[in-house]
Amino acid sequence: MYKLVYFEISGVCNGKCPWCVTGNKSAIHNSHSSFVDPKEFEKVITRLIELKLIGMTTRIDLFSWGEPFLHPEFNEIAKILNKRNILFGISTNASRPINIKQGLLTNMDQLTISVPGFSQASYDRIHGFNFNYILRNIDSLLDNFKKAGFSGYTNMAYHIYQFNIEEIGIARDFCLQRKVNFTPSFAYLNDFNLAKSYLSNNLDYATLKNASKDLLFYYVDKLIASMPKDYSCPQYNYLNIDEQGNLLTCCVLPKNHPNYSLGPILGLSVEEIKTKKVSQSVCRECINSGIAYWMHNPCTPDFADCINYFPNKKEGYYSPMALIKKNLPSPFKELIKKYVIIFKIRIRKVWFQLNNKIHKLN
Ligand code: SF4
Ligand code: SF4
Repeated sequence: MYKLVYFEISGVCNGKCPWCVTGNKSAIHNSHSSFVDPKEFEKVITRLIELKLIGMTTRIDLFSWGEPFLHPEFNEIAKILNKRNILFGISTNASRPINIKQGLLTNMDQLTISVPGFSQASYDRIHGFNFNYILRNIDSLLDNFKKAGFSGYTNMAYHIYQFNIEEIGIARDFCLQRKVNFTPSFAYLNDFNLAKSYLSNNLDYATLKNASKDLLFYYVDKLIASMPKDYSCPQYNYLNIDEQGNLLTCCVLPKNHPNYSLGPILGLSVEEIKTKKVSQSVCRECINSGIAYWMHNPCTPDFADCINYFPNKKEGYYSPMALIKKNLPSPFKELIKKYVIIFKIRIRKVWFQLNNKIHKLN
């Protein structure tokens, strides 16, 4: 059973980020539709459950290279997952206001808000949005989501560029005031072809010059040199599906790469899905060049403070429950996890209904 699935519900993004393959429009796809059809989405989810590839211990992240809140029927998508008690996650640039129906977010487990800095000047360089509008929208999303039953993990992913280093503290304070986790990390070449050219010293001069004014690269060689010899790409453990219902190699290859799509997932057997995911020829080159390791190891410098409202326990410390879980055989672990999730969702639903009643009484 896959623990994490990336299901792209919106194949488009309104961001203009020059170092992201979606924002710089370097891999336009000839697709008929930019958004997943909720009926098709439901068919894929139902089949994956039947094949036991996903279940209650899976989280479905409804994004990969697109902005999920651009989907005009987002409420329908959430409803489909709620009906099946499947947890889901969202990553958004917070540029779109969205009205979520009451109770539809009790299954949402994670919300990530990504920002390219914390000033209009930084937004002008990367996302291209109005910064004040984004701030107001973050507050209205947080409020709206709470009313819709969301009580999971909220996180601001702050992408560190050279020009926004001095804005880290302001963003951190903004998160502190709202009890939002803050996770800064270096922005990188979020574009397979650009990253490949950079690492093989083939990036054209103009692009390299522009990149040298935005991104920080001083840590990259050291990071890649630290890659374990037997490094296995984490993408082998995820399922990746695009807005057309195609199984993908991963969420690193761009849409115009020959190994991007592995065919419509509805036409594949369990064996084919599992084998195709881990047997693409491009992976050897991707791992050997260091691209895979770079993209999966976001680097946070010491000067950028993180706020984590759910800090890890002290090293070596296990709660009695964690100790039991650690020593249980796998089938029992799965069973316990499943019931913990059922319990968590039920509690969230009851809590949401209780809050609603109190609100009405007031
Ligand atoms: S980095 Fe995020 S916001 Fe920017 S273009 Fe890419 S997907 Fe959109
Ligand atoms: S090794 Fe590279 S191409 Fe292969 S799955 Fe990982 S990120 Fe994708």
